Amino acid sequence: MALVVQKYGGSSVATIDKMKDVAKRIIKEKDKGNDVIVVVSAMGKSTDRLIEMSRQASSNPSKREMDMLMSTGEQVSISLLSMVLSDYGYDAVSLTGFQAGIKTQGVHTKNHISDIDVKKIKKYLEAGKIIVVAGFQGMNNQGDITTLGRGGSDTTAVALAAKLNCLCKIYTDVDGIYDVDPRLYPEAKKLDSISYEEMMEMASLGAGVMETRAVEIACKYNIPIYVASSKENKMGTYIKEYDESMEGKAITGLTVSDDVLMVTINNVSYKAKNIALIFEKLAKYNVNIDMISQTAPINGYVNVSFTTSKEEIQYINEITKELKECIGDIEVSKDIDITKVSVIGIGMMKQSGVAANVFKIFADNNIEFKQVTTSEISISYTIESEDKEKAVTILARELNL
Ligand code: ASP
Ligand code: MG
Repeated sequence: MALVVQKYGGSSVATIDKMKDVAKRIIKEKDKGNDVIVVVSAMGKSTDRLIEMSRQASSNPSKREMDMLMSTGEQVSISLLSMVLSDYGYDAVSLTGFQAGIKTQGVHTKNHISDIDVKKIKKYLEAGKIIVVAGFQGMNNQGDITTLGRGGSDTTAVALAAKLNCLCKIYTDVDGIYDVDPRLYPEAKKLDSISYEEMMEMASLGAGVMETRAVEIACKYNIPIYVASSKENKMGTYIKEYDESMEGKAITGLTVSDDVLMVTINNVSYKAKNIALIFEKLAKYNVNIDMISQTAPINGYVNVSFTTSKEEIQYINEITKELKECIGDIEVSKDIDITKVSVIGIGMMKQSGVAANVFKIFADNNIEFKQVTTSEISISYTIESEDKEKAVTILARELNL
């Protein structure tokens, strides 16, 4: 008999009817002879609705009260799902984060799990019960209810699986991890498995399936995650430790992010001090920089470009003003019609020529890229957004995705 943690997101438990479908899947696991812990999110968009209500109550609600409020969403779904399971004749018990022993640390609305005291969970498992745990919440050492940041139920599920050393199954509205977002490239293929490292890279570069923190925990404790559809009975994708079978392909996946703002500072007198000053100002305003490029000096002047998230646009004017005061007659342009396309693959670590291959594909198809950055297992390019579809289609085809 194995122990399994199953997690269902908000859209999978959005209505009582959907909960009944979820209950059938839980029962199937239980009937196989497995012990089951279920982690659920709040029903549908109810967390958003709670946040909306808080705005009506106060212009600046305290974070402690936000945690108290938001945690109620999951209490609704755990109790209702337990009732449904009981109605089907299965012994189920719901537990809040606190009752499940989930201890957290950090600031309200952004806590992380520091430890889990699984005594109570073990007791209920021994009694043969299906345990339904509220995702996204815990309790800090002051005894206050806390939440783990939006999308935090994935973290609850993986942390429980890590503590209890078992498989974590994430049931969601997609049926697995695809090598390319199928909405952008309909011929995208579902992956049987993907390494933790690739999944983390894909998530941070724009793939939205799994919460990155959850994958980090799984990686740290080497807990396999299985991502599959909560509606259909198709094979999903395992996120697991890298093994030789994953090595063959240089590129496992391609991600696209439209949240790119490209800022170019023209006419910067070419002195190291000036370049340093630009990035000092950006740091002062906590603007998180992604890519950086600089032209070769012409007549003692360079142009410096960097990319950041679109939400940082508000700080750029202020920074421009300050920079003009220190480095003189610069010209700053902002471009929001930029897309970042990244190719990811752990096989890249051992294979050379991957970047060259992509450069050639771009050149052969007249796609201009503006900037390139690399990590050990990814290469990212910024391109004009109008070239996005073409770039994704051509890259996916040429790279055999
Ligand atoms: N209900 C929370 C949210 O909407 C947590 C989650 O869904 O994972 O962010
Ligand atoms: Mg989610």
